[in-house]
Amino acid sequence: MLVNLSGVLKDAREGRYAVGLFNTTDTDMLEAVISAAEELESPVIIGTAEVLLPYGELKLIAPAMIAAAKRAKVPVVVHFDHGLTFGRCMEALDLGFSSIMFDGSLGSFRDNIAQTAEMVRLAHGRGATVEGEIGHVGEASGRDNENTDGYTRAADALEFAEKTGVDALAVAIGTAHGTYKTKPRLDFERLAGIREAVDVPLVLHGGSGLSDEDFRKAIAGGISKINIFTDLCAAGERAMRDGIGQKLSYLGIRENRVRYIKEAVEKKIRLFKGV
Ligand SMILES: [Zn+2]
Repeated sequence: MLVNLSGVLKDAREGRYAVGLFNTTDTDMLEAVISAAEELESPVIIGTAEVLLPYGELKLIAPAMIAAAKRAKVPVVVHFDHGLTFGRCMEALDLGFSSIMFDGSLGSFRDNIAQTAEMVRLAHGRGATVEGEIGHVGEASGRDNENTDGYTRAADALEFAEKTGVDALAVAIGTAHGTYKTKPRLDFERLAGIREAVDVPLVLHGGSGLSDEDFRKAIAGGISKINIFTDLCAAGERAMRDGIGQKLSYLGIRENRVRYIKEAVEKKIRLFKGV
C-alpha cells in the first residue's frame, strides 16, 4: 500500500530500527526492492532523485513506482529524493509521490529554512511528507575526511526543524554520496547531540560502503531512515559481469540483475531491522 513517511518513521522510532530508501531508476530495481520488502514483511521507501532523472524519466518511472507501491503487501513510501527545484518537487507531487525531499542544503541557512518551509506547506496540503537537509552531505569523490565544515550542528537542526515543520531531517555526520575512497568516520557524538535537540526522525544519506557496525551504531543513535543506492548499482554491475561470463541471454542477465539487487536489499533490510 502507498503511504507517506509519517507512520513508517513513527513505527521505526518506536521499534528502534531504520527503514531503507532504495532508489529505483528502472523497473528491474523496482521489482527487486518491492519483492525483497514483501518477502521480509518490511515497510520500504522507493523513489528516484533529481540527479537520477537522466537515467529514468520522471513521467515514465513514476506511474510504475506508484502502481507497484499500491499493490504491494507492505507499506511503501514513494519518495522524491534530493529535489533541488520547486518545479521538480511539484511535478513529483502531481504525479502522485507520497513524499519528497527538498534539498536546500547548498544555499544559505536562511534560504534553506524559507524554501523548505514553503515546500512543507505545499506538500502537506496534498497529504505528502517532506524531508529537509541541514548541514551538507557531500560527494565521496570530492571528499576530505578532516573537513567538518558541512557537518550538522545541533542548534541549527533545532531551529531548522522548528521553523520548517519537516517530517524527517537529513543530517551530515561524516557520510558522503557515492563510493568511498577512504574509510568514512562517523561522528556519533554529534549525532547524539542532534538527537537530543530535535524530535524529528533523522535520516542518514551516503549509506553505501559503511560497515555493519556503523549502521548499528547510527540506528542505536537515533537514525530512522537510511538511503542506499550505490550498493544496489554495484550488485547490478556484478550481476551483468557474471551473466556475460556465464554467456546468459539478455533476459537471463536481466533475471540475474533483479536477483542480485534483491539480495543486496534484503541484506540491508535485515541489518536495519536488527533481525
Ligand atoms: Zn542523499
